[in-house]
Amino acid sequence: MKNVYIETLGCQMNKSDSERIAGILSHFGYIETNNEKNADLLIINTCSIRQLSADKAYSQLGVWGKRKKTNPEIKIAICGCVAQQDKEKIKKRAPYIDLIFGTHNIYELPELIKRVENGEKVCSITNKPYIADQNNFKIIRKPSVNAWIPIIEGCNNFCTYCVVPFTRGRERSRNPEEILKEAQNIIKEGFKEITLLGQNVDSYGKDLNDNNITLANLLRKMNSLEGDFRIRFVTSYPSDITDDLIDAVGECEKVCKYFHIPMQSGNSRILKEMNRHYTKEQYYEIVSKIRSRFPDVAITSDFIAGFPGETEEEFQDTLNAIEELKLDYSNTAAYSPREFTKAGKMIDKFLPEEVKYERLERLNEKNREMCLKSNEKFINKKMRVLVENKTEKNGKITLNSRADNNKIVHFESDKINIGDFAYVKVTKAQTWCLYGEPV
Ligand code: SF4
Repeated sequence: MKNVYIETLGCQMNKSDSERIAGILSHFGYIETNNEKNADLLIINTCSIRQLSADKAYSQLGVWGKRKKTNPEIKIAICGCVAQQDKEKIKKRAPYIDLIFGTHNIYELPELIKRVENGEKVCSITNKPYIADQNNFKIIRKPSVNAWIPIIEGCNNFCTYCVVPFTRGRERSRNPEEILKEAQNIIKEGFKEITLLGQNVDSYGKDLNDNNITLANLLRKMNSLEGDFRIRFVTSYPSDITDDLIDAVGECEKVCKYFHIPMQSGNSRILKEMNRHYTKEQYYEIVSKIRSRFPDVAITSDFIAGFPGETEEEFQDTLNAIEELKLDYSNTAAYSPREFTKAGKMIDKFLPEEVKYERLERLNEKNREMCLKSNEKFINKKMRVLVENKTEKNGKITLNSRADNNKIVHFESDKINIGDFAYVKVTKAQTWCLYGEPV
């Protein structure tokens, strides 16, 4: 047996890919280890959404490269979006690497790893997407209460700032029967929460030429599976959220009343520049529709500060949107130019770094303010939560849980366990979490 250590950067899709990689390698004698120092094979699964993420990958490779100098037997591999995009650069910067494989080459691993073990340096990058359902390798999920199922990969939207359509290809939906089979296994294994995953999850089924295959119908089928579990889905594209999807969320008691809908900017001109297919007003309409249907829903978003050409007034529209829409939480980032993208070529419109980061700071401040307000709404309310883990200090057990609307809730109890659903009355709100007591 050999040990493999997998370092995963970036989004949940990468984490899910890493579970698949661990599953495939387990058929070839590799056991996943959390201790990189014991590893025979080191893999970094990379993200290229921002320069910072890509830099992190190169810096980790540098550390591993030094280790390989003293122990040449160690094999080093890189995969994910940086590998898909930058193979020549990787070969130049880290010539000691044994294996480079792209986002579409995961299922070639059995062959690739054999060649690497025979001493070959291997690079396999293709632009032709794989069909995940054709492969029967098991998936090794980390022990947890939450499991993730990718249901659609890739994206057709070509937002001008984003590399995903280049690194992950066009949208490919998985067969619903395969997804349901995977979900049944997950429930049998004891997981209590299943998150359906896609870069643009509500596009699910559009490429399958069958009007009945939609995210809404998949949620209905998942909801009818036997078992004590709940369902989430991320990430939603604003204009792809249909009335039928909102109806399905309402009908299905196992589906959490939670939507993650990146707005990116609160200004319609900037949204157009970003090639987002909705206006500020349309986004407001979707949020209002969801809020009027589900009073305790949480709606979270993503925003970019300092997109090329963004004026101070246009940035103010973003701050206003976060406040007016009462967004429960937002992921924020300063604009980071990416190779291949349209916005990455708008060099004459790039804003100075200090302007971008000053705006990001104000964006974060607004986010903190709105998170606290959002959390305060739940004081004295009863929420259903799922216990994810626990901490013990001075004989007191604190359970760390997540409500159906994704709020983090801490409470004390020695009768409730990890993986239990419980009801909690909220007693205190802070910016990033709630405190409560079991009821
Ligand atoms: S919707 Fe836009 S931001 Fe999201 S993955 Fe597709 S191109 Fe990227």
